Amino acid sequence: MAKENLKLFKEAKKYLVGGVNSPVRSFSYAGGNPLFIKAGKGPRVFDYQGNNFIDYVLSFGALILGHSHPAVLRAVKKKINAGFGFGATNKTEIELAHEIIKAIPFIERIRFVNSGTEAVISALRLARGYTKRDKVLKFQHSYHGHADYLLVKSGSGLATLGIPASSGVPRDFIKHTLIAPYGDIDTVKEIFSKHGKEIAAVIVEPAGGNYGVVPPDIGFLKNLRKATRKFKTLLIFDEVITGFRFNYGALAQALGIIPDIICLGKIIGGGLPIGAYGAKEKIMRHLAPLGDVYQASTFAGNPIVMQAGLSTLNILRKLKKDYQRLEELTGFLIQSLKKEAVLRRISLEASNYGSMFSVKFNRKALFQKFHRGLINNGVYFAPSEFEANFLSFAHTRRDINETINVVRRGLDKISVVH
Ligand SMILES: *Cc1c(COP(=O)(O)O)cnc(C)c1O
Repeated sequence: MAKENLKLFKEAKKYLVGGVNSPVRSFSYAGGNPLFIKAGKGPRVFDYQGNNFIDYVLSFGALILGHSHPAVLRAVKKKINAGFGFGATNKTEIELAHEIIKAIPFIERIRFVNSGTEAVISALRLARGYTKRDKVLKFQHSYHGHADYLLVKSGSGLATLGIPASSGVPRDFIKHTLIAPYGDIDTVKEIFSKHGKEIAAVIVEPAGGNYGVVPPDIGFLKNLRKATRKFKTLLIFDEVITGFRFNYGALAQALGIIPDIICLGKIIGGGLPIGAYGAKEKIMRHLAPLGDVYQASTFAGNPIVMQAGLSTLNILRKLKKDYQRLEELTGFLIQSLKKEAVLRRISLEASNYGSMFSVKFNRKALFQKFHRGLINNGVYFAPSEFEANFLSFAHTRRDINETINVVRRGLDKISVVH
């Protein structure tokens, strides 16, 4: 397909590494030519050839209201007329901070940064500064952005011995990172009995969205809360994806498990670059200018970003009750997809947690065929089986029905090669 897309990809590769600014966009997993998106409206995105797609990527989960929500767009346009940023605090920063703290009452202070990665890096520095300890424990397959010391995978043998997951990360940089399989409380307990008093923080995604969709293991999370309390280690929930995704606030509240620090991003910026971290005042006051943990940023709290976030949350707050509908719609899509696969004797794993879903095949080649089939028929799923897909409040039953029709065709393509 896609003559214009092919042309753009060639051109992009001349100047951008691999033609992209973030690896998964290159479709290196999905195969084929990546999409080049010109615009988005509601549940759809438009490429440069005039094709449109029902979008389940939604800026990797940031756009819970869909693309170009008219009220958000209006507010951002108005805000931009006042200037692009000042390096001084703006009223909108206070308002967004207040709104988030109202929605997530277990935090008392918040600090805005520019990305989820930055939020995680800063939260861990704060945890280390607060506890005066060096080690952090993370879980296998979890993703927390691209900080050096979190790009670690478990090596063979001992669960606690990691190896760098990226070239360019010195072994020395990961010597304080402990790693355990998610859900394995025995290993966690073993690690704590050995290193408990050296562990500043445990960082976890309360629901995983970066290794397919991993629903919360509530028993495990409760045990983590217990273990961290016992050793005065801070529990950090990385809610960069999950914050405001399943309810108006943090997933932590819905699960009834309260972390010490929360990291946010994606949805709270309404589609513009953002990250944030928050905790009780007694922890947050360790940050500069009040405390001795340094963290700063030229663009943090940018008024246009703050406005996009604030307008998004103001709309979301009124949609509180509709989260249920969004979850049902997602469930319907996944159930239908599974049914169609069974009819064709195609084995796949499809699951959703709330409005987040993933589809995994038992062979990469099948996923690639499926993904391409969907694209050719106007449906855009995440270009990797390991990335989550999302619904937005702009997706209607009709969009879902249309998607299911396209899924049928995509699966037909596979059953032919089967
Ligand atoms: C997206 C994501 C990040 C990184 O956020 P960026 O804004 O891409 O830096 C961190 N943690 C989780 C759980 C994420 O989903």
